[in-house]
Amino acid sequence: MIRKKLKIFAIILTMLPMMFFTSCGDTEKSGKLSIVTTIFPPYDFAREITGGECDIQILLKPGQESHSYEPTIKDILAIENCDLFIYTGGESDVWVEDMLASFDEPVNALRLVDLCDVKEEEEIGEEHDHEEEHSVDEHVWTSLRNAQDICGGICEELCAIDIENADEYQKNCAAYCEKLKELDGEFSDVVNGGRRKTLVFGDRFPFRYLADDYGLECYAAFSGCSDETEPSAATFAYLIDKIESEDLPVVLYIEFSAENAARAIAEQTGCEARLFHSCHNVTQEEMQSGVSYISLMEENLQVLKEALY
Ligand SMILES: [Zn+2]
Repeated sequence: MIRKKLKIFAIILTMLPMMFFTSCGDTEKSGKLSIVTTIFPPYDFAREITGGECDIQILLKPGQESHSYEPTIKDILAIENCDLFIYTGGESDVWVEDMLASFDEPVNALRLVDLCDVKEEEEIGEEHDHEEEHSVDEHVWTSLRNAQDICGGICEELCAIDIENADEYQKNCAAYCEKLKELDGEFSDVVNGGRRKTLVFGDRFPFRYLADDYGLECYAAFSGCSDETEPSAATFAYLIDKIESEDLPVVLYIEFSAENAARAIAEQTGCEARLFHSCHNVTQEEMQSGVSYISLMEENLQVLKEALY
């Protein structure tokens, strides 16, 4: 998948000079600070920190699955012309470094993985291939504690770019981080009050950072954001056994998922299948209804109450 992305990116690069010729008109700046992000969480964080007083663009289209994203020519121009570009720095956007290096003028770019203590992607199914090289787990934002560090990093960058509004950004950021902290406390309370500490995902597992914050033990059909959709018979049986032996009431799946494995596990064991949102991206309806990182995490908290009690 990565190789394919790089190839497409190379094609786009060769087209760039042509594009500059024809697209000067629509890349002019509006005077407002412009921020471009690849995924939803930093988009939402930047919106909170700036109080919406900026042009903030998320490159993923609503409802688009983040791991199949490929930048369009328009996206690359948006990045080149923005005041701040925020990306994860993980496996799903390896194309970014090459693109940034290709620009004549350096772009202010912020990598989420640089703002947090990163961990390796973990194999959490039954089958382990110890020979396999593991990459960095890029899903740092799934931890509410990391989210505060990320907001701090974004705020610092914005204050440096836009000194005039720095006080405002700092004030907004502090107030928002307070909310994140409060929610983190609620997660701790729910986990500590629960009868269980085990979660089973009949799906991919981008929640290592969140799970580690609260000492949750997680099992999943696929690690990280693998693009597999069918677990092996052995993994399937292992997850079913986990649910039955620990009498777990819930099996989880993530957003934009086929849900097949989770549904099959639920059917087999009689437990409930529930969505646990990793916030990579949201749908058109969710975007329009004002869904936020915090509201998605609050929904996750309700699911935890069901899964751990
Ligand atoms: Zn992912």
